[in-house]
Amino acid sequence: MNKIVLKLGGTIMVLFLVVLLPLGYVANQIFTNFYYSQVQEEVEELSQKYALTITSMENEKFLTMFKTLAELTNKEIYIIDADGKVVAESGVQITNLSNKDIGLLSKGQPVQKKFRDAKAEVSYLGSGYPIIQSDTFKGAFFVLATINDVQEPVDKIRDLLILSVVGALFLALGFTFLLSKKMSDPLIEMEKATRQIAKGNLDIRVDIPSDDEVGSLGKAINDLALETNRYRSNRREFFANISHELRTPISYLQGYAQVLKQGLYQTEEERLQYLSIIEDETERMVRLINDLFDLSKMEEGKIDLQMSSIDLIEVLESALFKVKIELEKKGLTLRSQIDERVPYIEADGIRLGQIFTNLLGNAVRYTEKGFVSVKVWNVDNKVHVIIEDTGIGIPENDLPLVFERFHRVEKSRSRELGGTGLGLAIVKNLVELQNGTISVNSQEGKGTRFLLSFPVAQ
Ligand code: ADP
Repeated sequence: MNKIVLKLGGTIMVLFLVVLLPLGYVANQIFTNFYYSQVQEEVEELSQKYALTITSMENEKFLTMFKTLAELTNKEIYIIDADGKVVAESGVQITNLSNKDIGLLSKGQPVQKKFRDAKAEVSYLGSGYPIIQSDTFKGAFFVLATINDVQEPVDKIRDLLILSVVGALFLALGFTFLLSKKMSDPLIEMEKATRQIAKGNLDIRVDIPSDDEVGSLGKAINDLALETNRYRSNRREFFANISHELRTPISYLQGYAQVLKQGLYQTEEERLQYLSIIEDETERMVRLINDLFDLSKMEEGKIDLQMSSIDLIEVLESALFKVKIELEKKGLTLRSQIDERVPYIEADGIRLGQIFTNLLGNAVRYTEKGFVSVKVWNVDNKVHVIIEDTGIGIPENDLPLVFERFHRVEKSRSRELGGTGLGLAIVKNLVELQNGTISVNSQEGKGTRFLLSFPVAQ
């Protein structure tokens, strides 16, 4: 048996006994007292009645009638005269009738007490009532009931009480067992499930339908398993991506290094071309590693941002300056619609610059003709920025996924253009770390538009 059943069962049992035992004792006491006083009252009443009806103490017939009456009511009678001498009795011999009692009786007061009988060695619950005729004390009439007669029903009641206490105890025992089992079963199930989860069996679920605390603990365990599972497959995918991303440049490096080593080139120009491929691939690997490092720091919340009041336009203009050469090389025009009066925002200048460089870099990279445009304005305590291009666009299916790490619309297209697939994931993380929001709109073949919003600095 498990411990909860024992603990809970024990506690309930002790509580039960603490309540039931005194209750039983009190009930027994009440019944006994009630019964005793009932009998006491009865003998009192009878003795009074008989004492008042007796007219002659000498008439044998009278005395016999009282004896018969006593027999019928299952009582004993005992009649004394004014001196305390026995006149008639139904077979008892009272031994503890004191002078004090007779004194009381002679004064007209009744006597109630436990009387003892010499012969039969039994006690009686009795009552004596004075017989007074024409104002003179003639004697006393006693009616007695044996204690045994009284005790018998009292004992029966006590037995019944004990029986019901024991019955209730067993009932409670069964109930407690069921209750504690009902309570501990889900706990045991949850314990088993958590052990399985710890062992890595993340498909396990607990089924606890109750909507109390135990039920919500069960739900929490299921959530934990689900979340850990998600985390695990996410991590697996992440590592698969990283190794894939690293393998490609490394195979290029290996291949071209071998070509160069074995002198498998015809012209000096060819040799330089191979060397610049090696250079490009190395550069890409450095970028990939830096991006990965940044992203992992951000996802763990370990990146330190130097937040201060910043002129967003200044940062945007320096990012535009960086992409200018590339822009002109591709023959694209830059359109800008910047409201110079927008207020400062609370941000980290370098990280904000990284966001703009990334988005503008993408805009230029994925646009062959047309323009790249930027727009800045502010409404209600927010500064909004739009970075838009007339490039190849992003297919609708890919749109919700572009902010995920390593997601690329078309692997070859991005790789040819030098992307790592981490840019937008980093951008989104950085925007959110600076309390901003970012969203994207795009139409394939028409162009892409990113909208960013940052709260104004207080
Ligand atoms: P990458 O380094 O491959 O560019 P990003 O995370 O920056 O990775 O972008 C993810 C994908 O979103 C890219 O592979 C690209 O296909 C698409 N993308 C991003 N910006 C644009 C854009 N301005 N126009 C078209 N496609 C874009």
